[in-house]
Amino acid sequence: MINLILFGKPGSGKGTQAEFVRKSYNLVHISTGDVFRTNIAKNTDLGILAKSYMDKGELVPDDVTIKMLEEEVNKNQRSKGFIFDGFPRTTKQAEILDKFLSDQNLKISMTIALDVDEKILIKRLLDRGKQSGRSDDQDIIKIQNRFDEYNKKTLELIDFYKAQNKFFSIDGSGTINEITQRLFKTIDKFKND
Ligand code: AMP
Repeated sequence: MINLILFGKPGSGKGTQAEFVRKSYNLVHISTGDVFRTNIAKNTDLGILAKSYMDKGELVPDDVTIKMLEEEVNKNQRSKGFIFDGFPRTTKQAEILDKFLSDQNLKISMTIALDVDEKILIKRLLDRGKQSGRSDDQDIIKIQNRFDEYNKKTLELIDFYKAQNKFFSIDGSGTINEITQRLFKTIDKFKND
């Protein structure tokens, strides 16, 4: 079983790459951002709550996010493994994820960061915003706030996973295919070690 975390700033390509990994390694892809957006579209209580944070480029509170993540994992008990995309984003989320997995005799195999320069990310996000209509991708202040949240709350997870010898970083710039190849190489190396 492989349980992978795809890590990186907003716009680094986690969602796009997670889909390639899902297909090639037969894993379940859980994107917390996507689950929130589905709830927003359906106007559920969770969606209404999440929207009030997402619209400002802020993180949704840990308790809400963790509960939702656990439900998504529990829905897929028979899977061969998971790709976590956009989760964890805080140390508390990471600690609870470790505990939640170990209670089921599971663990995170590796965390792979997609490393991309902020200037490239801003261009990617604004382009994506034009195509998708996502409001948090269309406003430079919201984008900057998402980077600030990342730097304040998420960046420290690099040390968290380095301490467990589970942190890998790849260059997340170039063509989609080039990045996918780098990612597969990193996963395969881990699998064959
Ligand atoms: P994403 O699609 O991963 O860029 O996430 C979009 C937004 O959803 C983020 O800016 C947060 O507001 C919220 N979100 C997604 N994942 C998390 C998480 N793990 N913790 C808190 N908020 C999250």
